Amino acid sequence: MKTINDFNFKDQKALIRVDFNVPLNEQFQVTDTNRIEAAKPTILKILRDGGSVVLMSHLGRPKGVQEKYSLKHIVSTVSKILGIHVKFIDDCIGDKVEKAVNELKKGEVLLLENLRFYKEEEAGDVHFAEKLSKLGDIYVNDAFGTAHRAHASTTIVAQFFPTNKCFGYLMASEIESIDKVLKNSKKPVLAILGGAKVSSKIGIIENILDKVDHIIIGGGMTFTFIKAMGGKIGNSLVEDDKLDLALEIMKKAKEKNVKIHLPIDAVIADSFSNDADTRVEDVNNIPDGWMGLDVGPKTNVGFSFVIAQCKTILWNGPVGVFEMPKFAKGTIELGHAIADATEDGAFSLVGGGDSVAAVKQFSFDKKVSYVSTGGGAMLEMLEGQVLPGIEAINN
Ligand code: AMP
Repeated sequence: MKTINDFNFKDQKALIRVDFNVPLNEQFQVTDTNRIEAAKPTILKILRDGGSVVLMSHLGRPKGVQEKYSLKHIVSTVSKILGIHVKFIDDCIGDKVEKAVNELKKGEVLLLENLRFYKEEEAGDVHFAEKLSKLGDIYVNDAFGTAHRAHASTTIVAQFFPTNKCFGYLMASEIESIDKVLKNSKKPVLAILGGAKVSSKIGIIENILDKVDHIIIGGGMTFTFIKAMGGKIGNSLVEDDKLDLALEIMKKAKEKNVKIHLPIDAVIADSFSNDADTRVEDVNNIPDGWMGLDVGPKTNVGFSFVIAQCKTILWNGPVGVFEMPKFAKGTIELGHAIADATEDGAFSLVGGGDSVAAVKQFSFDKKVSYVSTGGGAMLEMLEGQVLPGIEAINN
């Protein structure tokens, strides 16, 4: 894997694809700076080497040029985080931009306007990518969040840098941490899959069956499995068209010697609300009119026991409706168990949308080994897909 450590950027202009798709409030202030902070080490290494930096990113989903999606709104925040004055130019290709890049001195940073103001970006247009390629000597991809998209700036542009291309630190650590789970894992390996639906996790389950020793299943997905096995699930979330699939997964897991751990009890509620009446019930004996919204206390103990034995742990998806305090306990206890296992030497990777929100909400993000920044990109890697943004650098 070629990273920025393999290059000396002295007197070189680095064209870096970053993911500065950050949330803005109504005053156009950045409300979460994580993605900018995440790109900082890459940018600083290049500047320290004596190079200059051209940053390109998208922001939101603009339809043509829309001022509210202009990256000019984030310039002051990027400057503050990097500790230097960042220049901005209100376009991302063309003579004016090339001139600004040529005038860039060592130690300087230029941020380009939103790439998605051009439809050619998402279309992966080669001519557009070629114009982008004129803006740097070395292409650096540090935008893991868009690595699963074959867009002009994430993938196509790389072909214009046959040898002068590499991953930034963020991309490299994302790839390494997923490899630690899927390829170079210490056994026993555990995958914890929660969230709402089997259908959105099936690709992952199928790919990891060959790589893990244990799978913990929680969240809304549970009830498709429980119903498939003949349990009573009341009004719990279920995908009736996936019952056979659930049984097939259980069968395949058995054949491959993978142990599937399902909840044994659930916190059930008489409505999907934090004000609902609740009680604990066996997971396969939920009365009509009630639904399972969190794992129960016996399940928490069982899951923690499994987690404590594992040396590699992947966590994707909450095991209950953690957004409502009444149904957050299972997810919190799971987080504690993973934090303890990590302290005892296990490698733990958390990723994919809502589980990242959950670990942050309950402050587990510092207690696990790695929290992925790329929801969709990480899910696709876990499904065993080759991401175009990664392939474009490796080829
Ligand atoms: P996902 O995006 O697939 O990881 O799903 C995350 C969502 O699953 C969260 O918003 C949770 O509230 C939801 N969820 C977790 N457990 C349940 C459950 N038992 N019933 C319904 N939704 C759930």
